[in-house]
Amino acid sequence: MNIIWTRSLVSLALLAALSAIVGAIFGVRIALVFAVVMLVVQGFFSTFHTQRLWRLLDAPVYGEVPSALGVWGEIYYRLHKLAKRWHAQVRQVEQQHSRFIQAIQASPNGVAMLDDHDQIEWCNAIAETHFGLDAKRDLRQHITHLVRQPEFVRYLNSHHYEEMLVMRGMGANRQHTLSVQVFPYGENRKLILTQDITELERTDSMRRDFVANVSHELKTPLTVLSGFLETMRELPLDEADRARYLEMMDQQASRMQNIVRDLLTLANLEGDMRPPGDGLLDMRAVMRHLEDDANSLSGGRHRIIFRADESLTVAGAETEIVSALANLVTNAIRYTPDGGTIDVAWHRVQDRAVFSVRDSGLGIPAEHIPRLTERFYRVDRSRSRDTGGTGLGLAIVKHVLQRHHAELDVKSEEGRGSTFIVRFPASRTAARKSIAA
Ligand code: ADP
Repeated sequence: MNIIWTRSLVSLALLAALSAIVGAIFGVRIALVFAVVMLVVQGFFSTFHTQRLWRLLDAPVYGEVPSALGVWGEIYYRLHKLAKRWHAQVRQVEQQHSRFIQAIQASPNGVAMLDDHDQIEWCNAIAETHFGLDAKRDLRQHITHLVRQPEFVRYLNSHHYEEMLVMRGMGANRQHTLSVQVFPYGENRKLILTQDITELERTDSMRRDFVANVSHELKTPLTVLSGFLETMRELPLDEADRARYLEMMDQQASRMQNIVRDLLTLANLEGDMRPPGDGLLDMRAVMRHLEDDANSLSGGRHRIIFRADESLTVAGAETEIVSALANLVTNAIRYTPDGGTIDVAWHRVQDRAVFSVRDSGLGIPAEHIPRLTERFYRVDRSRSRDTGGTGLGLAIVKHVLQRHHAELDVKSEEGRGSTFIVRFPASRTAARKSIAA
């Protein structure tokens, strides 16, 4: 038996006992009147509290517990306990919901939820920017009224969502490329995931260009080489012609070798995540080595001047730095016509070591300068080839300098010459006496 039954039976028993006592003292009639009056009072009491409970259930005020005697007090108390439990559960669900929303907002991808009529139910900030939406203003709008690109409308209506759609972004994101995929869920609802793949597309197209360039660069000497081979096989050649053909074949083979060598150097530099080391270079020996190489490449066709501050040195990977500096000197000679001047200097500017190569050569038109360090970028393709260039030299220079936190600055005037300046950071610049230390 529960508490309500017990309490009701106890009050009935009390009423009966009181009525019996009144009956014994004042007679049966008075006892009956007493009992009726008590029942009416009880009825009013119950109606009052039923009314109060009704109002409470209609407009609950959390935390306010009405007080009452007997069973009603118990009912109010239990209702209060129930409300408290529910309140705690609702708060827990609300917190989970808000954490869930925060997590989706933090996602780098766009998320939009559509109802069963393809109306926007919710979307995160990224989806807003991708589609040029306003989550508050556009709520409950049909998505194709706002994202009108025909390919998107076709995709949404196709009901085939195994593949993702690649499309242009909207609003401020017009220049971006998006990948969009729909995932149906629940009762005819849809989840749309969007991703900005502009960068991915760019690197992908760079990779494609690179493969095409490498193939092209290797194909040219290979075609020439096989042409010579065929000629030699099919034509009876005298000794002089034979030697000439072999010489030309050798040139093409070494051109291919140079390309492969530079590609491997570049791949090693790009793949090497280790810092380049901080041994101090013997710059006196390095400058002498560069000067000897420059003179033998020029073969006396240029005036070559080397000036070095011998008290100055730099910390880094010797082979890398020497190959980068040698590249700049070699380029200066290759792109300077006979009789020109090449001026190489190693000196300190403020607290930084600076290597500069100035030539009086062909010069570079301004619009080409920002692209010189791209792989296979050449201002004049035929001149680069004629002088044995691979188009990878400055790309290698850029990587070596990046690894040493050094900068490359190019100044040039078409027809008058160029200056390539390398500035090492103060942290890698040292005085020569440190070598001895
Ligand atoms: P390449 O093997 O073709 O010389 P690089 O990467 O070393 O390749 O140089 C890229 C291009 O920059 C060259 O093809 C050339 O057009 C230009 N260039 C580099 N150095 C000079 C220079 N000192 N004077 C004029 N043009 C230069």
